[in-house]
Amino acid sequence: MKVLKFGGTSVANAENISQVKNIVSNTKDDKVIVVLSALGGITDLLLQAADLASKEDNTYKKTLAEIENRHLLTIKELIPITAQSKVLSKVKSELNGLETLLEGAYSISETTLKLSDKIVSYGELLSSHIISEFFIAEKMDAVYKDSRELIKTNETYGRAVVDFELTHDRCRDFMAEVSQRIVVMAGFIASSIKGNTTTLGRGGSDYTAAIMAGVLNADLLEIWTDVSGMYTANPKIVKQAKAIEHISYEEAMELSHFGAKVLYPPTIQPILAKGISIVIKNTFRPQDPGTLITKNQNKEGKTVRGISHVEHIVLLSLEGPGMVGVPGISKRFFEVLSLADISVVLITQASSEHSICVGISAENAKKAASIVNEAFEYEISLGKIKPVIVEKDLAIIALVGDNMKSHQGLSGKMFSTLGKNNVNIRAIAQGASERNISAVITREDVKKALNALHEEFFEENIKQMNLFVMGVGNVGSKFLAQIQGQEKYLRDHLKLNIRVIGISNSRTMVFMENGIPLQDWEELLGAGEKADASAFIERVGKLNFRNSIFVDNTASEVVSETYATYLEKSISVVTCNKIACASAYKNYRRLKDLAREYNAPFLFETNVGAGLPIIDTLKNLIASGDKILNIQAVLSGSLNFVFNNFNDQTSFHDIVKQAQEEGYTEPDPKIDLSGIDVMRKILILARESGYQLDIDDIENKPFLPQESLNTTNNDAFFASLEKHEASFQDLYKRAVEDDAKLKYVAQFKDGKASVGLERIPKTHDFYNLEGSDNIVLFYTERYPNQPMIIKGAGAGAEVTASGIFADIIRIGNF
Ligand code: ADP
Ligand code: ASP
Ligand code: MG
Repeated sequence: MKVLKFGGTSVANAENISQVKNIVSNTKDDKVIVVLSALGGITDLLLQAADLASKEDNTYKKTLAEIENRHLLTIKELIPITAQSKVLSKVKSELNGLETLLEGAYSISETTLKLSDKIVSYGELLSSHIISEFFIAEKMDAVYKDSRELIKTNETYGRAVVDFELTHDRCRDFMAEVSQRIVVMAGFIASSIKGNTTTLGRGGSDYTAAIMAGVLNADLLEIWTDVSGMYTANPKIVKQAKAIEHISYEEAMELSHFGAKVLYPPTIQPILAKGISIVIKNTFRPQDPGTLITKNQNKEGKTVRGISHVEHIVLLSLEGPGMVGVPGISKRFFEVLSLADISVVLITQASSEHSICVGISAENAKKAASIVNEAFEYEISLGKIKPVIVEKDLAIIALVGDNMKSHQGLSGKMFSTLGKNNVNIRAIAQGASERNISAVITREDVKKALNALHEEFFEENIKQMNLFVMGVGNVGSKFLAQIQGQEKYLRDHLKLNIRVIGISNSRTMVFMENGIPLQDWEELLGAGEKADASAFIERVGKLNFRNSIFVDNTASEVVSETYATYLEKSISVVTCNKIACASAYKNYRRLKDLAREYNAPFLFETNVGAGLPIIDTLKNLIASGDKILNIQAVLSGSLNFVFNNFNDQTSFHDIVKQAQEEGYTEPDPKIDLSGIDVMRKILILARESGYQLDIDDIENKPFLPQESLNTTNNDAFFASLEKHEASFQDLYKRAVEDDAKLKYVAQFKDGKASVGLERIPKTHDFYNLEGSDNIVLFYTERYPNQPMIIKGAGAGAEVTASGIFADIIRIGNF
């Protein structure tokens, strides 16, 4: 014998019910019991109608009409015309009964739980009736049986307790006499000894099926639903979740207790002792293997089998000096909750006994707080215990697995994963069975926490990184193109799945939760919403993705001021904007400290030498114990370009103009020519070498005439360059006389930094520096005479973009 249960979605409409028929027809067992839920969504509608009626709200009639239409339409589409009238008249008379009950609720302005059970039972009554008639019309050897005659309970309406002895006898007697092969019955509903309709709790059709399987010693219980089994996490929230092939009763119970709705938690009980297997299957993909639930078979040592979560949790904490060493306080605490029928989902108690903390369902919060305060009124009045503290908007997430107890470090891994993603943990409980480690977190972090944990425990292979990109000018647009080009390579070779979730320029911004298709980013951004740096942060915060990285491709001070806010949310920051790292030392230090504190890398390789690995190399030298003695460098691609092209056949003005037009200078070329840009770079290198320096500490011998330095806009600046052409020609002439070349050089030695234009002789490493190249010589304790040299293109959008990309990959491998 086999029991098959079909859930709400499986019987939601005529098309789905036909699929159910195929599955039932394919069974070969001598007896088959088919347990059915209400048509999907009908239970909610029934409860809604009852609620409206009890509030004397006439619109309950609309809801009733919707319920009626769903059923009538299903009959018309499902049942052959010749057999329709009998079913229609039966269903209409049932619907009349329902209408009378709702009128009753309306006229007395209330629904008791007893009445509500009666009303809600119509969902399953109607579905099972219609479907049994359909089976019969399709010539299947089927019969309808009213579950209320088989399953007997007490009178705890809303969640009645089954009387197994009576139920057992009734079912055995019935099965002994039924001649048809297929018995169709309603899930979820039962009746009390007195004959009143009761229900088994929301989602309780699974339980009905398990009761039948248990009392009748079925060979197998099949739960047919809308997903292909019990998944490693709720597949609606974690896209990468996978169906678990085989799981133990205890694991399944634990997962469902902590929110895996696919199985109603009490379902396992009636079949556990008898060792009846359960299979969870997908009605719409019957070819999928589904999940098999049996006694513990998980001997090969898989540890974490699934992650589940319960939303709408509140924490109640009882604390106070009067609790220490006083026996019986916890007992009283739990007793009041249990007497009020409030179940406790999670318990933690500090070893000092200074506080007890329990997690309960949010709907019970108000009641629980008031009864606990009442129970401890005396101690509260003496100040020995504080009034109970209620913390709202929480959720529990739980890792579940039979073999977790024999593995060290799982909770460490769990909490560090959550910590890395800035998920604040309010309470922790590790089940005594050690089959479960659970944590209470803020509700809004659930999606991020589940995905981060899922990635950590189930997706050893692929790491997903979520980028938020600010600035899509020269560098930003190249960067997006590079990511687009490398997507596949990164996934296949580095196991990184890089998605751009948000893009902004100074005017608009666009966000797409599943990643922006990069071939269309310009169009999407153009049609995006109005943007500014703080609106952007707000959206990034709201989306609350794991492994988030903020990428700053702007040169904006305002944007650079937002980094701290990102880091404090454990969002990494990658930037080619030098402003933050060259700002006051205090600010630079704070950003570095925040990065460490929140486990969020802050990387700015492109601040010096564009894509050249200068800062990374410096960090590696220092981390491995080397000490920087002296840095000599040509760090301005722009100035190198200018002085490599300037001679007595050209004009300084034209060369600078050309450099600006070709994107070799900052938008304001004075930042380059005045030496400020180079000062910032050597400052950053000095700081990264471990020295506490500020920009004012750097000596700058400007080569520009004072008048050019004083200009306040680009036009005036270029005009002054034209005016002072003779002084630039003079610089050139003197260099030629010395057989030297002009280079703008930065130096850092003995804790002091300086920048300035120098005449470099032929013998020097800098002499042959081409185009816009950069060069850095690191003299260190390990490289005292022959410096470590890094040389190459040090400016340009393409190489800068690739430097940013390299930082992203560094974080990916972090
Ligand atoms: P039915 O109506 O068939 O009883 P339910 O809606 O009660 O179906 O349960 C199936 C749903 O449970 C799935 O659609 C899914 O959204 C949810 N769910 C939550 N956690 C899990 C999980 N770990 N595995 C599978 N489904 C889950
Ligand atoms: N129809 C009931 C509910 O929606 C029972 C079930 O489907 O399991 O809760
Ligand atoms: Mg269900």
